[in-house]
Amino acid sequence: MPSAARRQYDGNIRHFTAATSRGWPPNPLPAAPAAAALGLPPAGQVRAQVFQNAICNWRCWYCFVPFALLSGNPQRSAWFTVGGLVDAYLAGQDPPPVLDLSGGQPDLVPEWVPWTLRALADRGVGHVYVWSDDNLSNDYFWRHLTGAQRELVATHPRYGRVCCFKGFDAESFAFNTRAAPELFDRQFELFARLLATGMDLYAYATFTVPSADRIGAKMARFADRLQQITENLPLRTVPLKIEVWGPAAPRISPARQQALTVQAEAVAAWNAEIETRFTEADRHRPVSEITLRPGRQ
Ligand code: SF4
Repeated sequence: MPSAARRQYDGNIRHFTAATSRGWPPNPLPAAPAAAALGLPPAGQVRAQVFQNAICNWRCWYCFVPFALLSGNPQRSAWFTVGGLVDAYLAGQDPPPVLDLSGGQPDLVPEWVPWTLRALADRGVGHVYVWSDDNLSNDYFWRHLTGAQRELVATHPRYGRVCCFKGFDAESFAFNTRAAPELFDRQFELFARLLATGMDLYAYATFTVPSADRIGAKMARFADRLQQITENLPLRTVPLKIEVWGPAAPRISPARQQALTVQAEAVAAWNAEIETRFTEADRHRPVSEITLRPGRQ
């Protein structure tokens, strides 16, 4: 395990907002869980300090990070200690309430999260919500962390993780990530395993695929699989609309252009599944109040 991790320190402050496009569900992440954890009024948006690790094991065509920043390129990144990052964040003017450990794939350096939680505690900081992304691709959380580190991450009251399902079936997963299609199934296994630790989990899903063939049936199957993990998981799952800008623009092929259109049909199918499977009261419950396991909240 490295004593420090390669990070792209870009000093980004990001404003997360719940507003999305017409036809797409709002995105309350991470504003809602952060507000709940920090005892603040419900918020439609939140400011976050974003740190990015400069490496990812996938290459999603719609990724808004230039691929040159996903390869641990020493010309485009630098090494920082976790304590150094936390100090830089706290030294900023009006530090945001959320510290977002992003990427790349943060869990390629799984110690990043527990070391950050520990660094904040060591500095007596109790008013920060830590949020991290996970592309559900590896088991380093179990392979490389100690039991005490896993316990810290899984039970910390001001930490939440969003796991991203890269598609709604093996075909869309492989189309989006260029990874082997069988790794789509592994995403569910990893989510279930993380959930069993007690960690406060949320999910994103991307719905880009070149063909709308049988999309209703495929989306129903996706919702089934989420519910096989835990009944209410679809209510903690936020579909993300893929939009093309910046680094993604040169990667657009005819099939990808088509996928940008098809995702509107896909999200309509998703919305129909949610309406069928959950009551109106459930659908309007704040995302952080959705129970993912009996007796959790
Ligand atoms: S998993 Fe995330 S960081 Fe990695 S290529 Fe895909 S969108 Fe980009």
